[in-house]
Amino acid sequence: RRKWSRVVEILSEFEDGCSTSIARLRQVVDAMAVEMHAGLASDGGSKLKMLLTFVDRLPDGEEKGTYYALDLGGTNFRVLRIQLGGNRSVILKHEVERQPIPENLMMGTSEDLFDFIAMSLKHFVVKEEGSEQRPDRSRELGFTFSFPVRQVSVSSGFLIKWTKGFAIEDAVGKDVAQCLEEAMTRRGLDMRVAALVNDTVGTLALGHYHDEDTVAAVIIGTGTNACYVERTDAIIKCQGLLTNSGGMVVNMEWGNFWSSHLPRTSYDVDLDDETANHNDQGFEKMISGMYLGDITRRVLYRIAQESDIFGDAAASLSAPFVLRTPLMAAMHEDDSPDLREVSRILQENLQMPEISLKARRLVVGVIDIVTRRAARLAAAGIVGILKKIGRDGSGGIGSGKTKGKIRRSVVAIEGGLYSGYSMFREYLNEAVVEILGDEVAESVVLRVSEDGSGIGAALLAATAAHSS
Ligand code: ADP
Repeated sequence: RRKWSRVVEILSEFEDGCSTSIARLRQVVDAMAVEMHAGLASDGGSKLKMLLTFVDRLPDGEEKGTYYALDLGGTNFRVLRIQLGGNRSVILKHEVERQPIPENLMMGTSEDLFDFIAMSLKHFVVKEEGSEQRPDRSRELGFTFSFPVRQVSVSSGFLIKWTKGFAIEDAVGKDVAQCLEEAMTRRGLDMRVAALVNDTVGTLALGHYHDEDTVAAVIIGTGTNACYVERTDAIIKCQGLLTNSGGMVVNMEWGNFWSSHLPRTSYDVDLDDETANHNDQGFEKMISGMYLGDITRRVLYRIAQESDIFGDAAASLSAPFVLRTPLMAAMHEDDSPDLREVSRILQENLQMPEISLKARRLVVGVIDIVTRRAARLAAAGIVGILKKIGRDGSGGIGSGKTKGKIRRSVVAIEGGLYSGYSMFREYLNEAVVEILGDEVAESVVLRVSEDGSGIGAALLAATAAHSS
């Protein structure tokens, strides 16, 4: 019962289903730009929420002083402190370890949660400042809060709903910046929330601090999201929006992007059916680290069920999420001639029996298809943003062509998938060039960013403090 012919059939069917031809990618680019328009035209006009952030000024390097950041994005939170000397100086960063949020606090009251965070913050401040002289103005904090928030100013916003395992009912509908400030007051900590931001906005801020041509930021880690600088007059759903810069950062929530042009297979449909957020985050489920391993696992499981090339491995491959994306990356990057690493990972991490070299090659083949599709779709999304703001060289009024020269555009990218998975990064970079063409691609820089969610928030606190 070897049935290699059946295996080849499954593989080639999967490969066809994942096709990201250049024509297909261009359709995705256009769809992204169209959906962005729709999401800016009215609330609910698109699966892209296109949330206003009220950030209308990004750090430019002139910021000075000491600022704090608090990053609450999941089951951990971090606090950090930065010191800035102006003139785009090197950022001196002081950080504490990530701290887990005790599980009971994730389902308790907002007062308990924010008191806990305020206490940790206070300990950190006391430790950091030691006998240092107190600044004459109140301490400024950038608060990165990576849950859906309806922002009403740069420093306040109302929690729409919890995600990622949090269930603190009384916090829903409240201004989370105010909740934190009240807790800090209760705990005797003199500090003000100067900026309340989403993690992508932090990445954009840090990118802009280093390079003023930075126009967008993308995060591709466990999940995926993007933000960019939009002209206020293009934000039709908010008529009369006025900012000094004439622009505002828009948080796209692009993980929820959807288009019929996305190459979707039966494995994607099954994965979606079995996730708690069924029908949500369609783009994210094809692109981000949380899911790539499981798409791969599903294809391998099918092959194990219909052939015996993996020996008796069907049982080891049946459990959802047993194949994590970093392991998949490690197998992809195995360049030993006999794929020793692939073999070791399958045996040690998935308890699969030893399999033939040919079968190991097949595993790598499946991984390659999944990763290549993900990276190329992310690339199309990025070009979609550039197209929306006239930076894709496609011409016409406002196309970003000045005096025959295309303006330089930098996109800051952060997250484990892009920074840690070299094949993913290469496929993404390559696809951007393929879509834009060599000449335009020369004006587009993809720049790896690190820790924008923390440092960027502190920088935005500095920017807000400077302009107020
Ligand atoms: P998060 O998005 O959880 O805040 P990261 O940006 O560090 O944090 O992303 C972590 C995710 O990135 C992991 O869930 C994993 O899926 C993926 N990842 C991290 N390192 C690698 C790697 N070397 N290869 C492939 N995927 C990785």
